[in-house]
Amino acid sequence: MGDERTTELGRRLGEVRQRIDRAVSAAGRSTTPRLVVVTKFHPAADVRRLVGLGVQDVGENRDQEARAKAAEVDDASGLNWHFIGQLQSNKAKYVVRYATAVHSVDREQLVTALSTAMVREQARRQETGRPARQDLDCLIQVDLDTRPPQERPDGIGARGGVQPDGVLALAEQIAGAEGLNLRGLMAVAPLGLEPAPAFQRLRGISAALVARHPEATSISAGMSHDLEEAVAAGATHLRVGTDVLGPRPDVG
Ligand SMILES: *Cc1c(COP(=O)(O)O)cnc(C)c1O
Repeated sequence: MGDERTTELGRRLGEVRQRIDRAVSAAGRSTTPRLVVVTKFHPAADVRRLVGLGVQDVGENRDQEARAKAAEVDDASGLNWHFIGQLQSNKAKYVVRYATAVHSVDREQLVTALSTAMVREQARRQETGRPARQDLDCLIQVDLDTRPPQERPDGIGARGGVQPDGVLALAEQIAGAEGLNLRGLMAVAPLGLEPAPAFQRLRGISAALVARHPEATSISAGMSHDLEEAVAAGATHLRVGTDVLGPRPDVG
C-alpha cells in the first residue's frame, strides 16, 4: 500500500526504531528488544500497513476489538498478536484463538481459564485438520506501584498486576499448566512516578523469577514515553502505541 498513511507509519516506525537502537547502545546491550506495536483503537487497515512495513508483533488490550481485527488480517502474514490488557476469564476461549502471548496474566483463575481454553483450542484444531496451535506464551503482570491504593492517582489497582510477592506462586502455576509457556514478566510504570526506579525493581523481580524458572527471561516494559528507561532496565519487549500510530481517541 503506497498511501499517505503507510508513509506516515513508516516514518514514525523508523523514528521509534532509532530511539530503541540509541537506547540499546547507551545501555551497552548486545540485544535489541522486540517491538510490539500497540494498535488498539486503530483499524485493521493500519495493522496490514504495519505488516507491509515489516512489523511482526502487535499488541491489543480488548478482546472484542482484537478478535475482530485478527479476523481481518491474513493468517499467512505470520503476525504475532500480543494481548496486553486486563482480561476476564470468560474471554480466555476467544483470546487463545488468535493470541500468541498474553502479557497480563495476574491471577490464578485466569491461568486456569487460559489453560483449559488452550487445550480445547488445540484439540479443536486437530479434529478439524487445521494447523496446530503453539502453546500460549504467558507473562505475569506485576504491580510496581509502592504507594497505598488511596494515594494512587489512577485509583486502586487500576493498572492491574499481581504484587511482587505473589509472582513466584503464579509462576509455579503457569509452569505446571497444560497449553501454557511461562515466559516472564510485564509491567506498566506507575502513573506519576519516575519510570527508571520502577523498571529497575522489575529487573530485580525478574532475576528472582529466572533463578527458579530459567526459561522465564522475558521482561515486557516500556511504552512511548518511557521506552528508553525500559531498555536501560533490560526490557526484552517494548509496547509502543502512540509514537508509531499517532494519537488515539482518549478512552484507553
Ligand atoms: C496502550 C498501552 C501501551 C502503549 O502505550 P503508548 O503510550 O500508546 O505507547 C502499552 N502497554 C499497555 C498495557 C497499554 O495498554
